[in-house]
This record gives sequence, C-alpha cells and structure tokens, in this order.
Amino acid sequence: MNRDILIVGGGIFGASIAYALARRGLGERVLLLERQQLAGAATSRAAALVTLVRDKPHFIPLVQETRRAIEAMRADFSEDVGLRQVGALYATSTAGAAELDRLAASCGEFGIVSEKLTPDEAIRHSPWLNPAAFDAAVLFPQEAYVEPYLLSTAYSRSAAHLGVRIRLAADVRQICCANDRISGVELRSGEILPADIVINAAGAWAGLLSAELGVPLPMAPVRSQYWITEPDAIFPRQGPIVLLPEIRAYARPEIGALLFGIRESRTAVADPRLLPADLSGFVFDPSDPDGWENLADGAEQLRRYFPAIDRLGIAHYITGPSNYTPDGNLVVGAVDRIAGLFVAAGCNGAGIAVSGGVGRLIAEQITGQACFVDAAPHRVERHGLFDPFAPEFLNLCAAARSRKTSG
Ligand SMILES: Cc1cc2nc3c(=O)[nH]c(=O)nc-3n(C[C@H](O)[C@H](O)[C@H](O)COP(=O)(O)OP(=O)(O)OC[C@H]3O[C@@H](n4cnc5c(N)ncnc54)[C@H](O)[C@@H]3O)c2cc1C
Repeated sequence: MNRDILIVGGGIFGASIAYALARRGLGERVLLLERQQLAGAATSRAAALVTLVRDKPHFIPLVQETRRAIEAMRADFSEDVGLRQVGALYATSTAGAAELDRLAASCGEFGIVSEKLTPDEAIRHSPWLNPAAFDAAVLFPQEAYVEPYLLSTAYSRSAAHLGVRIRLAADVRQICCANDRISGVELRSGEILPADIVINAAGAWAGLLSAELGVPLPMAPVRSQYWITEPDAIFPRQGPIVLLPEIRAYARPEIGALLFGIRESRTAVADPRLLPADLSGFVFDPSDPDGWENLADGAEQLRRYFPAIDRLGIAHYITGPSNYTPDGNLVVGAVDRIAGLFVAAGCNGAGIAVSGGVGRLIAEQITGQACFVDAAPHRVERHGLFDPFAPEFLNLCAAARSRKTSG
C-alpha cells in the first residue's frame, strides 16, 4: 500500500493526527516520521493540564475532544494515560471575583460545572493555600491532568493498531512541492518519500520547514517552565489543580509534592534557527538557566498565597519550548497556497489539552468533512507574509505567554 499521507513529527500533535486519520479509515495510507524519539521533545516536558476552562471559549471544544479521545482509547485499546480528574480551584481577590463569575458562566454554556467556595472551604481542598490571600474561589470539578508521554504514545500506539506506520530516525530535510502542490519529503539521508499530503507537525521546528516553502508560521518557541517542590505532608495527593489568575500562577499535585508555574512578566524566546534537534542541553537564557530570576520576580506574590514556599526546597526545574502566537490562537489547518500541505503547530502552551481537537480538525479537513469547530481563528496564513525570525516578531510571541491567565 502506498503511504501517501506523511506526518512530520512524532510529538503529541503528530500522534493525535495519525490517530484521528486512522479512526476515519485512512490508517493504511499514513506514515508518521520522527527523527528522534516519539514524544521526546516538548510533549514529555509538559505540566499536562488538560483543562477545559479557557479564557478563549473556542478552545473548549478542542479540549473536550481530547477527553473523548482518551475515553475512546481506553475503551478500544485499554490505554491508561494517567488521567487524574482532581478538579481545578480558582482563587482571587474581591477585585477579580466578577471576572471569575463571568468565566464560570461562559464555561457553563459548554457544560462545564462549577461551584463557588469560601476561602475556608477552598483550603480544605488545598491546605497549602493561605485563606487570607483571597476572597473568592470557584471549583471546577471536571478538570484534570494526564501523563503527557502516556497520552502521546497512546495516540501513536492506537494509530498503529489501526494501520499507521511509524518510522524513527527519519529526519526530514525539506518538504517538497512542485507547481504549488505537495510532492513528498526529502530526508537528510537523501531518500525521497513521495506523497500527496504532508502534515507539518514538527513542533518548535515546524516554522523552519514551512519558511523554506515561503509559508511563514505566525509563532515562535517561547520558554515554558515550572518547578516542583520537595514532597511535604501539606500537599494532598488528590488535591485539585490551583489557578491564581491575578498572579498568573498555576499549581497541581505531583506525587506528594507541588508542581507550580508562574507566568513571568519577562519571557525568553528563541530564534527557531538556533534550536538544536536534541533539547536536553538547551538553555533559553544563559544568564538565567534555571529560571531563578523569574521565580525571584514572582516570589513575593507567590508567598502571599503559598507561605510554605519559604521553608520548602525546590526538587526539580523543567523547561522547554511552547510555540506562542501573537493572537493566542493555534496554527492549524490547510495551507491555501500549497495543495496537500497542512500544519499543526502554535500550541500556546496548550498542546496536550487541545491535542484531540487538533487531530480531529486536521483529519476532517483532509477527508473533506465539515469541521466540528470554526477553523478560521487558527488559519495558518492569517498574518500574510512577514519575517518569522525578526526579533520584533519573536517578542510579540513572547508577550502572548506573559498575558496568559488560564490553564
Ligand atoms: C514546561 C512546559 C509545560 C507545559 N505545560 C503544558 C500543560 O500543562 N498543558 C498543555 O496542554 N500543554 C503544555 N505544554 C505545551 C505542550 O508540551 C506542547 O503544546 C505540545 O507538547 C506540543 O506538541 P508538538 O507535537 O507540537 O511538539 P513536540 O512534542 O515538540 O513534537 C515535535 C516533534 O517533531 C520532531 N521533529 C522536528 N523536526 C523534525 C524533522 N525535520 N524531521 C522529523 N521529525 C522532526 C521532533 O523531534 C519532535 O519529536 C507545556 C510545554 C512546556 C515546555
């Protein structure tokens, strides 16, 4: 059988697209190409919040689709992706309470349940929070996190069960086209793989492959990071995810410890041309390799909500690239100028959460089905022609991360 649909990149987007195509009966036509390990780049570094509550409501159906895919893979292939439905607790001052109510009401229209709590009720769920630091709280009990490596490899294993072939050590040098139509890809080994359809799901490197085709992607790899404390008895293992929108912080339980992130006011962004294929030794900002300056910047605000931070040590620091876009939308869909070319990138730090929706959206576009959501906000060519490597553009993308307040 001729594998005429090639997916470049075996991270969570490539894997979920392979699965969605295979569910539609196209598995035998799909070849997934990965140059390193499946789920070894941004995907395995994620905090893996699969949160439905979003300040952009059009992301919600994409996350709901991920939850459906997790359920379908459990039922069909006994895949356990480590889903922990622990709920999410939002806490805010009186000044932010109306905004939180508005968020709960808009999410309610999508069937997302919420419950108002007093600060004293809230700290029964999260005893590490200081009740004097906030006046209003809302619990969203359906919220969850997963094991990102397990979810990504569940998609690729399920896709393989349904006929998709996966090829490792396949380093794509370029996506090839002739007369504005896809003709295949060329590997670094010189091998040519002919194809009618190519899906560029190469994560932080997707922009490099696209730029060579004259299709700049409106995104840049921005440093995402979080810290994990030492274990301590104040962190219940089944405690909820906590979101503190006023200080742009989030936290979740992590095996008796607390995983937390603060969306820093100064973000580090990389020129994609300088990103190595192997991220293990990569440092975004040599002057602040472990993000300590960012942590120090936010420490005072964090201490107000989380006083125990002063006595607890930090056991781990995790960092990696997320592709942020100036408008906060994804970069997903068909490229109008080149027939047969599709892109799935621009995750804005939500690629694990929206993975199922992205897979479905691309599969529907390839099979010509009506899309289950409006694809327009995520259009690949929405910014027209521009220089995706110009410092001003990279800074616009970094600023998008600094503004983010939901999961
Ligand atoms: C610290 C951190 C925390 C995060 N927290 C969350 C969170 O809580 N919730 C959430 O939803 N998201 C989170 N994210 C974002 C999430 O990790 C990403 O959105 C997601 O992993 C993107 O998946 P991807 O498949 O696009 O990219 P990747 O996982 O990076 O995969 C891209 C793949 O393409 C391969 N590739 C690249 N170029 C080529 C080539 N030329 N040939 C062949 N293969 C190639 C790479 O080797 C790689 O395996 C976080 C990210 C980070 C870094």
